Amino acid sequence: MHAPIPSHRYFPYLTWTEIEAMAHKQDVVIVQPMGAIEQHGPHLPLIVDSAISTTVLGKALAQLDPEVPAYSLPPLYYGKSNEHWHFPGTITLSAETLLRVIHDVAESLYRAGFRKLVLLNAHGGQPQVLDIAARDLHQTYPDLMVFPLFVWAVPNCAGELLTPHELELGIHAGDAETSLMQVIMPDQVRQDRCQAEFPQDLPTDSWLTMEGALPFAWVTRDLSASGVLGDPTLATPAKGQQLLDSLVVGWVRTLEDIYRFRQPRTAGP
Ligand SMILES: [Zn+2]
Repeated sequence: MHAPIPSHRYFPYLTWTEIEAMAHKQDVVIVQPMGAIEQHGPHLPLIVDSAISTTVLGKALAQLDPEVPAYSLPPLYYGKSNEHWHFPGTITLSAETLLRVIHDVAESLYRAGFRKLVLLNAHGGQPQVLDIAARDLHQTYPDLMVFPLFVWAVPNCAGELLTPHELELGIHAGDAETSLMQVIMPDQVRQDRCQAEFPQDLPTDSWLTMEGALPFAWVTRDLSASGVLGDPTLATPAKGQQLLDSLVVGWVRTLEDIYRFRQPRTAGP
């Protein structure tokens, strides 16, 4: 039940006595892989974001220095996906529910003695919720270190592999996600249904954009009839493998950084 996480790094395989006896629990890195069950166009399954975060984490944990203690929690498959609400199959938590789930998981880990929690998220619709959860948890438990992180935020080769158009507008079920899925779960890609669609009717001669510094709120149906934002016909397994490898290198480094991280402290109030 652990794949793609290595079994010796899978938190649910531990016993309570092993956790009680664990040395230096305050330094152990606990990672919550987070994704979504949401539409990804006619060609990709609902599981894409959960599959990406869990696979990248699993491969990073497999390569991680064995001296670095780190465990993966079971993936949190559900996320806040209400932008995809109009497409059947999408299952969404409210922001409030997701905040409560993260809070309750973190509190349980804190009670067990852990002090480092990584939220490793692959769904672009929920970083804001993770930011709020992380800040609130650290305010409540000053010695709890929480890291609200996006899987694509580590240095990676997307900038070299994707077209500028795709980098700007291919934000959902486009080249990047489809290429990755061709490597992670090739049997689940409906290759014959790949179809490009880019947002129509965007404001021109305006500073307001879909994402970026001056955004407007949108739901996917405003921008795309198929649910795709990008061009999945450009996807190749070779590109997917390069993307995956570069993300894994980035996450090995990041997990080691987190293991060594110390919370900054001043003598202020
Ligand atoms: Zn996605």
